[in-house]
Amino acid sequence: MTCIFCKIANGEISTELLYSDDKVAAFRDIRPQAPLHILVVPKAHVDSLWELDDPELAGALLHAVTVIARAEGLARGYRVIVNTGSDGGQEVPHLHLHLIGGTALGAMLPKH
Ligand code: AMP
Repeated sequence: MTCIFCKIANGEISTELLYSDDKVAAFRDIRPQAPLHILVVPKAHVDSLWELDDPELAGALLHAVTVIARAEGLARGYRVIVNTGSDGGQEVPHLHLHLIGGTALGAMLPKH
């Protein structure tokens, strides 16, 4: 297993997990873009959202986001981003949801 997010999610690399259940794990982004920046990932390897064919896992990932956001006190709001593929700007080839918040966030997309 060479995937870094597989290793983190399954405890092969010692990282604080902010959330963990049988399918999903969450940990802090190493280069936070906001006061709170957490990555929510499946424990089983999925390359990207493009490859996600499991509605139960999709629901588990989104549910984990809600649980974490509530635990982190993000009642004022937050943003969830799933960069997908090269045009989507995905750098790490293991599906991950960015949960970003802790401040008022600006515009999301670059202007064309
Ligand atoms: P993306 O561009 O959507 O693939 O985002 C990948 C994210 O993973 C970036 O925000 C990185 O800062 C983050 N990242 C890369 N390696 C690690 C790591 N070992 N632990 C935590 N976050 C990481």
